[in-house]
Amino acid sequence: MNNRVYNFSAGPGVIFEDVLKKAADEMMNQNGSGMSVMEMSHRSKWFEDIINGAEALLREVMAIPDNYKVLFLQGGASSQFAMIPMNLKKNGKADYIQTGVWAKKSYQEAKKFIDCRVVASSEDKTYTYIPETKPEDFNKDADYVHFCYNNTIYGTKFNGEPDVGGIDLVCDMSSCILSEPVDVSKYALIYAGAQKNMGPAGLTVVIIREDLIREDVEPYVPVMFRYKTHADNGSMYNTPPTYAIYICKLVLEKVKELGGLEAMKKINEQKAAMLYDFLDSSKLFRPTVSAPYRSLMNIPFVTGDKELDAKFIKEATEAGFVNLKGHRSVGGMRASLYNAMPVEGVAALVGFMKDFERKNA
Ligand SMILES: *Cc1c(COP(=O)(O)O)cnc(C)c1O
Repeated sequence: MNNRVYNFSAGPGVIFEDVLKKAADEMMNQNGSGMSVMEMSHRSKWFEDIINGAEALLREVMAIPDNYKVLFLQGGASSQFAMIPMNLKKNGKADYIQTGVWAKKSYQEAKKFIDCRVVASSEDKTYTYIPETKPEDFNKDADYVHFCYNNTIYGTKFNGEPDVGGIDLVCDMSSCILSEPVDVSKYALIYAGAQKNMGPAGLTVVIIREDLIREDVEPYVPVMFRYKTHADNGSMYNTPPTYAIYICKLVLEKVKELGGLEAMKKINEQKAAMLYDFLDSSKLFRPTVSAPYRSLMNIPFVTGDKELDAKFIKEATEAGFVNLKGHRSVGGMRASLYNAMPVEGVAALVGFMKDFERKNA
């Protein structure tokens, strides 16, 4: 009935069709208001229901403890790279684990505000693995340890939180939030740009332990860059990204309907296994990440021949499997299997790849 493609984009990524349909249905008249969400005041009763509903659903789905605040911000995950050191600085030191370009950028930005250190890095092998760390590696006086759970560009992920010996943990979960359960109580702060797994671009979600929302940040910190500003005003100090928050709420409703994060994890493991199993047995394609570090969300692979990679991407696109080109910094292919990618999409992609292999091996 429709002419939609299978969209393997790393971000902005695929959104559940049910969400898009509901948003389309409600476009002209949101909940009896006679207008769309984009046109209504963020102070209206209708929008209050939306933002409160989104927060309640996120708290429920992620089992966020009561001593954490949920903030709906703007500026992307990239603004958090600065906002985190500006707000969490106390002793003036921070430790970073560097597992990719995003993790590196977060470190480079933080250096402007706090004395930071790279404790471990996988840059030596173009970030194709997760470096080992021990609690003793970290500075006991560090205000926090920052890491990136899922490395979108390279397709690696941590298997559980690194043991940092009780120092506050800060995590970029942009490309894996809502993909599996997390024990929020192990973190001081979790942040994510919404455009991978939570909805459209323009919304950044921050989950922060209340004691870290401080008044006594340095005077230079702009009002908009203080967590306290947003926490004190229910994320409505200024106009929040209203439409993105609305779509995020619909995404959370869908995730809940599917059975929550335990169920998402099962489906995501199933989808990823379909592609990894094929890649591991293929004579033409090979995965670029070894088993212990493999992401469920972003799966890079290559043929080993640049021209063949280009041919594959071209033919896949023509067949309706789009955005399979790897990040410009690594080349090859990358299939992002976010929550909203249906199992049938992965099955169809594997079928297409088998076909391509037969014709080109
Ligand atoms: C996409 C991404 C970012 C950048 O997000 P913006 O919202 O564009 O700033 C940061 N970290 C990770 C892990 C990402 O996947």
